[in-house]
Amino acid sequence: MMTTRQVDVTTHSRISELGQRVLSGGKLSREDALFLFNLETTADIFDLLSWANRIREQNKGNKIHLCSIVNAKAGNCSENCSFCAQSSFYQTGSPKYGFVDPEPMMEAATEAGDNKVTALGIVAAWKGLNEGPLLDEVCDRIRELKAGGKVRPDASLGLIKDQKVAVRLKEAGLECYGHNLESSRNFFGNHCTTHTYEDRVQTIKYLKNAGIKICSGGIIGMGESREDRCDLAFELKEIGASVVPINILNPIKGTPFENYPQLPPMEILKTIACFRFILPRQEIMIAGGRTINLRDMQSMIFTAGASALMVGNYLTTLNQPVEKDLQMLKDLGLDPEWDHNFEDQENTWQPIELKTAEAVSA
Ligand code: SF4
Repeated sequence: MMTTRQVDVTTHSRISELGQRVLSGGKLSREDALFLFNLETTADIFDLLSWANRIREQNKGNKIHLCSIVNAKAGNCSENCSFCAQSSFYQTGSPKYGFVDPEPMMEAATEAGDNKVTALGIVAAWKGLNEGPLLDEVCDRIRELKAGGKVRPDASLGLIKDQKVAVRLKEAGLECYGHNLESSRNFFGNHCTTHTYEDRVQTIKYLKNAGIKICSGGIIGMGESREDRCDLAFELKEIGASVVPINILNPIKGTPFENYPQLPPMEILKTIACFRFILPRQEIMIAGGRTINLRDMQSMIFTAGASALMVGNYLTTLNQPVEKDLQMLKDLGLDPEWDHNFEDQENTWQPIELKTAEAVSA
């Protein structure tokens, strides 16, 4: 027997009202956003996606920002992030090596440039970066990649505890630094206890004071509530993240999260759409875990409001081939050739508590 369901047009009207508000430059309250995060029916979630798609199109047209990463130092990390294959706390069989030579990085940059990728993130599995020979080496790599002209060199090098380190990175030519908040302030202690949420926020403040753009997002599917996801989106708005990567947990054997159930694809798409409503002008990037969690529904991330995509393999897991991603974009009428420069984004953060970059350099 066919089952029918009464469609609730009150919910439809409220989604439309919130969509129109965002399109005309208005903002969502936390209560409005939670209403969206708590939508349940497929009919309501598709309504939400259609508005998120309009908001993306109004702010980004048909442009999609592509990023890749190169794992510049792998494994043996001193931190205990429960989702991570590279933590020294867990036996995962993930590769381990020290900071790489210039050649593999230049090769990664050439490959990324050939695949229409705008930015290549230099990523290192360690707690953080201090002044010293390693910082010198990192700055050399940034300069070399910049001079090579194939891609914009970005970096994700962990915690920074000194304003001078951020200034050195800026002077080497770094434009954007990846540093995820990972989850809400409330949930953070559930996946990491070797450093704090505040440590991460402080790192972002140093970087922003040095004039570096921030790529910061999180991981969903770690057992957090919808309220936690909502809080994360507002916290990312507050710290002024320019690019917001949404990773979906890919449970790695050997980590404490290895047996976590996968999030349903509609829950993932709804979360992406809610982030688009809260951060209408920032890049919402879908990163790790998309292939394994979304499977045939991957192309719907753009309908849900995503404007950026991590392509190529992730740090410890495989992605679908770049050619397949490029074909997916072409089929959707989306264009990855974008001289992405952050100018269309909202800047919600003002340097307040710390010395300016100029003051530190002086
Ligand atoms: S997420 Fe980063 S800091 Fe945490 S264990 Fe992995 S490499 Fe280390």
